Amino acid sequence: MLYCEKCRTLVADSCPLHASKHLREPRGNDPVLIAQLSGISAAMLEGLLLDEKLPFQQEGRLGAGMSVWIGRMMETFSFYVPYDLRDKALELYALVCEAPPEEDVSKSDGESDKIE
Ligand SMILES: [Zn+2]
Repeated sequence: MLYCEKCRTLVADSCPLHASKHLREPRGNDPVLIAQLSGISAAMLEGLLLDEKLPFQQEGRLGAGMSVWIGRMMETFSFYVPYDLRDKALELYALVCEAPPEEDVSKSDGESDKIE
């Protein structure tokens, strides 16, 4: 496993964006991307990480200023944790993924056609 300093991700042998330019061996406190989530999922993962007292960084794609305008639930967040805590964090991420989706409520497939 190698670490791309620019993407802050672990890659097998080559970064899709930077090839081997910024690759090196990961160190214990390197921030590693574990998930990109939005809305309820992001809030859930944040809550789990806080509960477990794992140090993490959460970065919005649009930046804090933009989130204010479009609303936090529309933002996509990247979550980074120290390399040493990655396994634990991925366990928590798995819990979020197993949770049932809850965004279908507002969707309707035109099933409301009324028979007259
Ligand atoms: Zn890269």
